[in-house]
Amino acid sequence: MTTRKIIHVDMDAFYASVEQRDRPELRGRPVVVGGPPTSRSVVAAASYEARRYGVRSAMSSAEAKRRCPELVFVRPDFSRYVAVSGQLREIFRSVTELIEPLALDEAYLDVTHNKLAEPLAGKIARDLKLRIKKELHLTASAGVGPNKLVAKLASDHQKPDGLVIVPPDQVDAFLLPMPVEKLWGVGPATQKRLHDLGVHTVAELRLLPESTLLERLGNFGPFLRRLAFGDDPRSVEPHRVAKSHGAERTFEHDLRSVSEMDGVIDRLAERVAGEVAEGGRPGRTVTLKVRYADFTTLTRSRSLPSPTADATRISKVAQGLLRATEAPHRPVRLLGVSMSGLLGEEEALQLELPLDV
Ligand SMILES: [Mg+2]
Repeated sequence: MTTRKIIHVDMDAFYASVEQRDRPELRGRPVVVGGPPTSRSVVAAASYEARRYGVRSAMSSAEAKRRCPELVFVRPDFSRYVAVSGQLREIFRSVTELIEPLALDEAYLDVTHNKLAEPLAGKIARDLKLRIKKELHLTASAGVGPNKLVAKLASDHQKPDGLVIVPPDQVDAFLLPMPVEKLWGVGPATQKRLHDLGVHTVAELRLLPESTLLERLGNFGPFLRRLAFGDDPRSVEPHRVAKSHGAERTFEHDLRSVSEMDGVIDRLAERVAGEVAEGGRPGRTVTLKVRYADFTTLTRSRSLPSPTADATRISKVAQGLLRATEAPHRPVRLLGVSMSGLLGEEEALQLELPLDV
């Protein structure tokens, strides 16, 4: 087996950094990109100055303002972020065509074989960061590893402006102390199941027998075990783009009241809107997923006349769809909201996104 060399590049506080770069009066100040705190918007990006107050992306703008009263709110201008993303892509393409974008500001590069014939992936990553700083006047964090899992964890390890190189013989030392929720695919539900088993770190996860993982996590269990051992088979897929964004929630106790369900849909819509905004491509189709107490599951969709990334609008549509189900008369154990029909990058370029219509 030839060892692969993967770089994960992630721009630091991307939207906020672009705003601070282009508007000098914002430099050194706590800035978020997102709708105003009087709206029901969420934070799409927070500058590092804002993060010191505990402000995070996907947090409601109102909560962000509570944490940092002098916070400056800047409306997103996705056309500029998409343009910078294109410049970033060109820098990547000088090294390889094997680029898998995860968002406007984040991508995996497979540099096992590269256009520079450079054997040292760490040197490529360092040069990429330098070019990004020199040409785009922005900082990026980069991680280098033998696979996607390790490269992404590495880029996240020393943000901002970090460079973390994890050679194959150091993967174990790097992974063992990591909390399990850092592993790919481990969301809140899986995290809770693992914590219930007394498993908090990758080191502890390795000690669980495969049969236990299979029993508790289904088919994901054995795959997760491979990841815990630093074995990630996923390849860098150059044309992968997100086709949808979604969020769902299973309830401890079945829901019976429509107003409670509406409240859940509000919160799910906020999460979806945050993801859509982060991806920079608003969508046209809202889908509601309902699972009744007896596990019967259905989905209902509606397409909008114009694309949106607005939580209130997404929520209203999903709440309308809820009324077209039996949910008002039947206990519900799960609700999900998703957004598809996402705009292509070229279309997104034409668009100024109001996050709070
Ligand atoms: Mg980023």
